Amino acid sequence: MSNKPADKIQDLQYFGEFGGVNPSISDSATYTFLHAKTMLDTFEGHAEGCYLYSRHSSPSNLYLGEALAAMEHTETANVAASGMGAITSVLLQICGAGDHIVSSRTIYGGSYAFMKNFAPKLNITTSFVDITSLESVEAAITKNTKIIYCELESNPLLEIANIPELSKIAKKHNVKLVVDNTFTPLIFTPKNLGADVTIHSLTKFINGTNDTVGGVVCGTQEFINDLRSVQDGAAMLLGPVMDSLRAASVLKNLRTLHIRMKKHSENALYLADHFEKDGLKVVYPGLKSHKDHELFKTMNNKEYGFGGIMTIDVGTIEKANELMELMQNENLGYLAVSLGFYKTLFSASGTSTSSEIPTEEQVKMGLSNGIVRFSIGLDNDIERTYQSMRNCMEKVGVLNTKQESVL
Ligand code: PLP
Repeated sequence: MSNKPADKIQDLQYFGEFGGVNPSISDSATYTFLHAKTMLDTFEGHAEGCYLYSRHSSPSNLYLGEALAAMEHTETANVAASGMGAITSVLLQICGAGDHIVSSRTIYGGSYAFMKNFAPKLNITTSFVDITSLESVEAAITKNTKIIYCELESNPLLEIANIPELSKIAKKHNVKLVVDNTFTPLIFTPKNLGADVTIHSLTKFINGTNDTVGGVVCGTQEFINDLRSVQDGAAMLLGPVMDSLRAASVLKNLRTLHIRMKKHSENALYLADHFEKDGLKVVYPGLKSHKDHELFKTMNNKEYGFGGIMTIDVGTIEKANELMELMQNENLGYLAVSLGFYKTLFSASGTSTSSEIPTEEQVKMGLSNGIVRFSIGLDNDIERTYQSMRNCMEKVGVLNTKQESVL
């Protein structure tokens, strides 16, 4: 049996009711029991294989969860209606009033806003730190800390978290290391590097077709049981449940994730490399100039490359907007948030997905408002894309015609 994440997904077979090559979809919110006693046992969590009510679990959601758990090398997983549904359930399952989180300051704006603005209403506080400074992480831990939270590749600065070292700190202080791996599925397996819980927004690369939001929590059987507990499980009681029809559809898309990730990475590396040579300020972990390039290479599953996300700092928000509108008009991609689509997506992070982060904080962390985040698509001819993007950069005055940056 292969231990590679993509092979583990491939080895999972689920047949449909009539021998279908895809599993049957469980199109029911509630389930009958032949015996009343089994219903009680199921409520108490003792009836393996029995279904109760689809907010708790459903066959379609379990199929998808098991495939994602196989990918992430965890014992099991629980799918959620969105990435935020997964993140907030985990934080609220582990933390109660008086508890504390140490979080990377460069995370998705929604996660940041939840910890900064919402969790304090429940008396859960967060210290935001530079996750690449292990000393700052350890110094921020208090006796009330329950979680170290980070994104493996941060949004939008593309810093890389040193999971093995963070895991040592977490173990030393008996706190849980929770890692959002949304930007880098298959590329990293956080569990193997020391993470306790791995989260994804399925909305992005994993589903890849931009037709739904979704999320998943991958962890131990014990933790997932806790999340689903009818007594005090955050997933069960807050109710961010994915619909079965969607779970079935995401599972089908997951089947091609390995091919897509390789192509996203290949295309992004090509563009990052060429635009850097042109003199632009490119940030991409596959470039030697990236400050965490070497760290990345100590942790990644090599065959998937360095991911599909890169940023280019074009100086000002005005230039960024002009460039993005032109690229969209030239059909090079869409001016849209989100990532992991077949088509390239671009947005100016400071005024979009990171706008929840106050401007002073953005400046402190080096998030200039001229940064354009690109989620590079699956373009068949990336050289042609490069030439067309170059033309757009020349037109808006980011590059001059002699192939030199004018920044
Ligand atoms: N994590 C990361 C890194 C994200 O970029 C996002 C969304 O943009 C989320 C989590 C939240 O996921 P969702 O939009 O599926 O709730």
